[in-house]
Amino acid sequence: MLRVWSNFIDGKWVRSSSGKTFKSYNPAKPSQTLGIFQQSNEQDVERAVSAAEKAFLFWSDVPAPGRARVLFKIRDLLTKNKQRLGKLVTTEMGKVFAEGLGDVQEAIDVFEYMAGEGRRLFGHTTPSELRDKFCMTVRQPIGIIGLITPWNFPIAIPAWKMSAALICGNTVVFKPSSDTPLCAAELVKLMNKAGVPPGVVNMVTGPGENVGGTIIKHPKIHGISFTGHKDTGNYILKNAGIKKVGLELGGKNAIIIMDDANLDLALEGVLWGAFGTTGQRCTATSRVIIHRAVQHRFEQMLLERVHKLQLGSGLSKDTDVGPLINQAAVDKSHKYVQIGKTEGATLLCGGGRPRMKGCYYNPTVFTNVTPTMRIANEEIFGPVLSLIPVNDLNEAIEVANGVEYGLSASIYTQDINKAFKAIKRIESGVMYVNASTIGAEVHLPFGGVKNTGNGTREAGIEGIHEFSEVKTVYVDFSGKLQKAQIDVMKVLK
Ligand code: NAD
Repeated sequence: MLRVWSNFIDGKWVRSSSGKTFKSYNPAKPSQTLGIFQQSNEQDVERAVSAAEKAFLFWSDVPAPGRARVLFKIRDLLTKNKQRLGKLVTTEMGKVFAEGLGDVQEAIDVFEYMAGEGRRLFGHTTPSELRDKFCMTVRQPIGIIGLITPWNFPIAIPAWKMSAALICGNTVVFKPSSDTPLCAAELVKLMNKAGVPPGVVNMVTGPGENVGGTIIKHPKIHGISFTGHKDTGNYILKNAGIKKVGLELGGKNAIIIMDDANLDLALEGVLWGAFGTTGQRCTATSRVIIHRAVQHRFEQMLLERVHKLQLGSGLSKDTDVGPLINQAAVDKSHKYVQIGKTEGATLLCGGGRPRMKGCYYNPTVFTNVTPTMRIANEEIFGPVLSLIPVNDLNEAIEVANGVEYGLSASIYTQDINKAFKAIKRIESGVMYVNASTIGAEVHLPFGGVKNTGNGTREAGIEGIHEFSEVKTVYVDFSGKLQKAQIDVMKVLK
């Protein structure tokens, strides 16, 4: 019997007042329904905000090392449940099992990292310009934060946001993607078991427009952390009003392969970057900018390996490439393949749906793509790779920078000078040398430039900055009125 999941508000599982529900499916086997979820409305969000407001008084007053204890407990429970949750990620989102486990491991890592921050949460001290006056900054919570997440890292991305939000003393209203509500519900259930007090984490499932829309516009929510599509991010920025908004959006990430590159190594990086997670990572490699001197050889090497990639359920041991998230994603990949053909790119392989049930698409490679083609500029978010030939490093960097996004980039070269030129000149938030465009670690900041975001970073110490406010404190122990900028002229006398 299929479970009907409720919203999680004020420490309790409660049904939506809408009386409506929606279902979650297995993309490898769309006839398999995984759960029934609340199609919530504005009143449910209102209820969650009230609970978060009440809980904030208590939670923000718990000393940060005390909050950290709860986060360590979440880490421990995630570790204990890693296999089960990894399987769930694969079943609901589609990525292969090793990556499903990786999704959970990232959550374990970030809860551990942020729990450690509970004994730091550093501000700084600095001398005053006046005698007997003490100056410092302290970190304070923002208040209630609205978290809106996508489906492609259904455990890791909510964990990135929740761990940082909670250690800083905030309470949250969390709206997960409607493609992966089961992973979200299991994470919230586990956090409740770990001892997160009622009202600190509230989950409301349902459509982006009304549930997400109510969250972003809510006057009592002072921070929004959003990961998703550029257009949704744009909408949020325009409608959130005066709030602290963090946006983690799309990418059109490139690997540059120079003529001196170790091609065997580059090949592994390209395969992993382009077809890992079926191309559905914000950091996925969707462009290979290749030096003409090695273009032909690399194409042959790539073709040989792409032909061997095994499509199938992520739970099968032999599978290299799992399904896409849903039929709309399959249609989108196919639409871009048609666009690429019309634009005159050369289809090297793939470009169609395999004869199997499920949301599958054949790993696809185009070559002789030019930088102005749509397939070289727009985020496809599927297993479709474009090879763009260039003559030298300067042209490669120009092409890499010629898109609206700036999330992740990579260069394969044996020449340290070329590597550092690329590090300096490529417009991206993340840069790899002799490694693929994917592989973020939680103790380093993550995010992008240009249309990939609005300047915030998640994870690492910057994650703490995103989820907290700085308060500047002056303590005057001189016992008299001292005037900054004015009395400073007298201190040397
Ligand atoms: P999406 O923007 O369609 O949805 C993301 C979330 O926003 C979902 O929960 C959705 O319900 C909600 N939403 C939709 N419309 C809304 C609205 N009007 N108001 C408020 N919320 C709304 O994105 P997606 O398809 O779930 O995810 C794929 C996208 O996410 C890709 O563009 C990918 O690059 C990006 N992404 C970025 C990062 C990053 O860190 N930069 C990481 C992962 C994914």
